[in-house]
Parts: sequence; C-alpha cells; structure tokens
Amino acid sequence: MHGPDWQIGRILGIPIKVHVSWFLVFLFVTWTLATGYLPAALPGHSAGRYWAMGGVSAVLLFASVLLHELGHSYVALRYRIPIGQITLFIFGGVAQMRREPPGPLAEFLIAIAGPLVSFILGGLCFGLVSVAEAASGAGQFQGLLILAVMVGQTNIMLAVFNLIPGFPLDGGRVLRAGLWAWTKDFYRATSQASLAGLWFGGLLSLLGGLLVFAALAGALPGALVTNGGWIVLIGAFLFAAARGSRRQATLKAALSSVAVRDLMVRSVATISPELTIEDAVNRWFLHYGYGGFPVVQDGHLVGMVTVREIRAVPTSLWAWRRVRDVMRPWTPEMAVTSDCSAIQALERMVQGGDDRLVVVDDGRPVGLVTRSAIGRYLQLRGFPS
Ligand code: ZN
Repeated sequence: MHGPDWQIGRILGIPIKVHVSWFLVFLFVTWTLATGYLPAALPGHSAGRYWAMGGVSAVLLFASVLLHELGHSYVALRYRIPIGQITLFIFGGVAQMRREPPGPLAEFLIAIAGPLVSFILGGLCFGLVSVAEAASGAGQFQGLLILAVMVGQTNIMLAVFNLIPGFPLDGGRVLRAGLWAWTKDFYRATSQASLAGLWFGGLLSLLGGLLVFAALAGALPGALVTNGGWIVLIGAFLFAAARGSRRQATLKAALSSVAVRDLMVRSVATISPELTIEDAVNRWFLHYGYGGFPVVQDGHLVGMVTVREIRAVPTSLWAWRRVRDVMRPWTPEMAVTSDCSAIQALERMVQGGDDRLVVVDDGRPVGLVTRSAIGRYLQLRGFPS
C-alpha cells in the first residue's frame, strides 16, 4: 500500500496503523448509513442522531476488522512469527508477517483464526439481539439493536468473504496449507493457490460488473449499483494481489532449485585491513570493478568493505583512513555455504540489507554471490527483471 499511514496504538506489542484510504471507507459508511439506511430503519430522529450512529457503526466496523487481524496475529505469535504491523486500509486489514509459517498446520491455523474471530463476533451480536428482543420487546433499545444487527452482519460478511479460496485471502491460505501438506512443495502450493486467486478475482469483478449493469438497466434495484461497484473493485484487488504472489512464487521456485555454487564468482579478490582507503579504491574497487570485497587478515575473514562504507568517508580523508576503520566487522550472517540454494542466499541478503555474501566452505572463502548475479540468472531464464 502506498500513501501515508498513522500509528494509532499497539496491541500484543504490534503497531496498529491506519492507511489514508481507510478514511474513505469511514466517510462512505457513515454517509450511507446516516442519509439512507438509518432514517428508513429508524424513523423520527434528528439528522445529528443519524450521523452519530453512522459514525459509531464505522468505528465498530473498524474494530471488527482489527479483531479479525488480531486473530491471525495471535496464532502467528504463538508460532514465534514476528508481526511487523497491522494496517487497516480501504479493502480491510493486513497483518504483516515477517516470516512464512513453519509448516502447513501452522499456515492453516493462522489463516483460519481471523474468520473464526469474525464468526464468533457475528454470533455474539445476533445472540445478544435475540436475547434483548425476547426480554424487552425492543422499545427504547431499537437504535442499539439496529447497530448490533449491522455489526453482526458485517462480521459474518467479513468471515465469508475472506474464506473465498483464492490466495492471498484467508481461504486461499487454507488452500495453500492443504496443497503444501499434500505436495510438500511450498512454492508450488503458493503458485497454485494464487492461480485460484486470479480466477476468483476475475469472477468477482465479472459478477460485480453484471450487478452494476443490471441495476443501471432497471432489472435490479438502483441501490445495488454501489454494491456492484465495490465487488468489482474488490475482485480487481484480489486479481492484482494474486498475480503478484504467483509471479513471486514462480521466481522463488526457480531460485530454490539452483545452488549458490552455480551462481557464485569463483575468483575471490580479498583485501587487507591495513590498506588505506585510497589504495583500496584505486587498486581494488576501480581495478576489479566489484562493488565490495571480503577483508582477510592472516587467512581469516575479518570483515566486509563495500562502496557504501567507502562513500561514508570524505575524499579528503582517503589517504589517512584504513580499510580496518570503515569495514563492517565479520559476522556469520555475511557468509553462505556453496550448497545453499539461491533463494536462501537472497533471503539472507534481504534480511541483512546486503548486496553480496561470501561463500565459505570449511572456513575458507571460495567465492562471492551477489544480488546482481542472481538477477542475471533470472534474466537469462526469461524472468522480467
Ligand atoms: Zn483474514
């Protein structure tokens, strides 16, 4: 999601953010309820009362989506998967998981937790309404009951819509968990579940389009034009998200089947920590044309120096500062073994914010693997860069 968002608090240690597009939903929901639904369902009140009730409903809708996402997050946290943030935006909410689930069962339980929370909330609302109606015959609680029915409906709809079996919706994740358990191939399962997402996204858009058409032509009530429009948008959103996931899964599948050994540069040029930056630039960076070098002293890896570290030093100091002063000291995260898969190497680079890793076998540097080498490998095999 692009555009600004605001953090409004923290729950379970997770930052809760509201995306700018959510305010559109807030205004739309408040406006539709205050000027259309409420005056019809509950006649005889002031405009101010309707607007207030519309606003309260929009806030309750927000709370429903948030609790749904917290359902996913709670189970994910039980599996020690960190949640970066929960964002509420125009089409609902997203809990951003920092890691993939460890296995199909975890994937299934995390995916099902959200719709389960929504079903329970919906059931509670309708239970409350029937108890209240039986007890008092409604009367002065009419307004509250209407709110409870709306929140109940919202939660049931949230659960049902999210259970559509197309990735990345919750139902699509349940499907992926099943395919993953069956084929034991995470990327293929993702790719197939995303294909289902493409189909359901297209189908929803088509259905919404037909609804708009029929309502405009007078075959259906005119109020259904807005509903149809929303369904078209949601279908298009699902289609785009599924296409992105499928592309990524295909790419990762390609990279999981190739070893680092087949992509690495084998002629490793290492650099001494005692060299001045000026010498490093002239005799290493410019001479070899690489973007970074492992720093080696007495046969041991002691660090890594890249263009980034060099650029942080003013040119006037290049003759005085040494590689040792600016290099990033060695950590095991800077290395992979040559039998690692390319996707493991790439994920390590993304996590550490690195562009290159040293390939180390039996404590000896045997090569260098870079992001651009992985990119070139994909390009040669016809993937868009
Ligand atoms: Zn969900």
